[in-house]
Amino acid sequence: MCGITGVFAPGRDAARLAFFALYALQHRGQESAGIAAADGGTIRSHKEMGLLGAIFDEDILSDLSGHIAIGHTRYSTTGSSIVVNAQPLLERSDLGDFAFAHNGNLTNTDELRESLAPTTVLQATSDSEVMAKLIVESKGTMLDRIESVLTLARGAYSVVLCTQSELYAFRDPWGVRPLCLGRLAEGGYVVASESCALGTVGAQYVREIERGEIVRIGPHGLDCYQTDVERAQPALCMFEYIYFARPDSKLNDRSVYMARYAMGRRLAKEHPVEADVVMAVPDSAVAGGIGYAAESGLPYIEGLIKNRYIGRTFISPDQRMRSRGVHLKFNPVVENLRGQRVIVVDDSIVRGTTTPRIVALLREAGAREVHLRITSPPIKHPCYLGVDMATYDELIAANHSVEDIRRKTGADSLGYLSLDGLIASVGRTRGEMCLGCLIGEYPNVPATHEVHAAPA
Ligand code: 5GP
Ligand code: MG
Repeated sequence: MCGITGVFAPGRDAARLAFFALYALQHRGQESAGIAAADGGTIRSHKEMGLLGAIFDEDILSDLSGHIAIGHTRYSTTGSSIVVNAQPLLERSDLGDFAFAHNGNLTNTDELRESLAPTTVLQATSDSEVMAKLIVESKGTMLDRIESVLTLARGAYSVVLCTQSELYAFRDPWGVRPLCLGRLAEGGYVVASESCALGTVGAQYVREIERGEIVRIGPHGLDCYQTDVERAQPALCMFEYIYFARPDSKLNDRSVYMARYAMGRRLAKEHPVEADVVMAVPDSAVAGGIGYAAESGLPYIEGLIKNRYIGRTFISPDQRMRSRGVHLKFNPVVENLRGQRVIVVDDSIVRGTTTPRIVALLREAGAREVHLRITSPPIKHPCYLGVDMATYDELIAANHSVEDIRRKTGADSLGYLSLDGLIASVGRTRGEMCLGCLIGEYPNVPATHEVHAAPA
């Protein structure tokens, strides 16, 4: 997962706008971040490991002059966690320099790598660089080259690219990762992974960039090109709605908040239980918890307070602190929990390492019963398209029954939202979403791709 943004803002410092747009997308990746800016001539860039606020300061931003910028915040899936894999990538081509930033994961990287010239040297270990090199090596205008990438590359890719004088944005033919377009009131455009970033920089939401679409923004204005996507089935990632996206974003014109709220309501219908209060595990499950409470008629309480400044820390806790695990992130509101039969709504159970600690924390705080309710079906299959859940081994639901998972979490009861309930909550049909992690069918993973066998 990653967050990307592109800004074309005549007369303004695009890098500053890109910084604030990325700041709104920090939840999509905390490993590294970077911004590249173009002033019509030179492209300058800065990228480092770490969080946005720690990487950029006034001096660095002032050096990134120009009215065009792209930015990236990274959460690694393919390629190791080192600074050469940070983006934007800077490339030299016969068309001039360009900068490139990618969210997603390709599924035919090896094949594409083999199609590159034997003399091509790859600096990074990521699929993104292979895609950038394809653009360098293909022929024709930038638009022609991007179109050829769209026919060759399989998998998930939402991309922003800036040349010395233009901004491009495009999305794979399946539309797996989100990407939307906004307009700046003072003139110009902003492209971002999620619509929450548009409001932050004062841009008005215009629309989604369509799957297989290329958008070009230059001195002449905005042009859109729709490539042939008939071969591809629409497949927006369901996990974006379940967990990844911010609730104040909308994806495919459906508010993420309202989708999660609807998931919570459905979950209450599918798995009611006698209890006193409903709470959610902050932050991603809050809308679902409020929906559950509304449907059940039970009061919604805050049972856990999350440290607002928790992010990735590079200071490792000592052994005694490590064993307290979730305490670094959450403290219970004892007064709300003591003696209560508590329904705890969370969005997903992936590896099953955090959830048992949360249940234990609530019991220590005095909860009399703990009923776990999850606003997604069991996550049983790995993701090849950009979410960091790579193998069957690490997924608890791939290897255990619901009753086993209940026992391991220590909850009194456990209920998962049904697949149909989930799909209805996002207001889509089955054929319009990628449900790979839930059902093991992927929209665009070629037969040659190494698919780990599901355990019996
Ligand atoms: P688990 O019990 O599987 O260890 O943790 C479940 C929790 O992890 C849920 O609260 C869910 O919101 C959260 N979660 C799901 N996917 C991810 C992810 O990709 N990264 C992080 N940091 N948390 C996740
Ligand atoms: Mg969570």
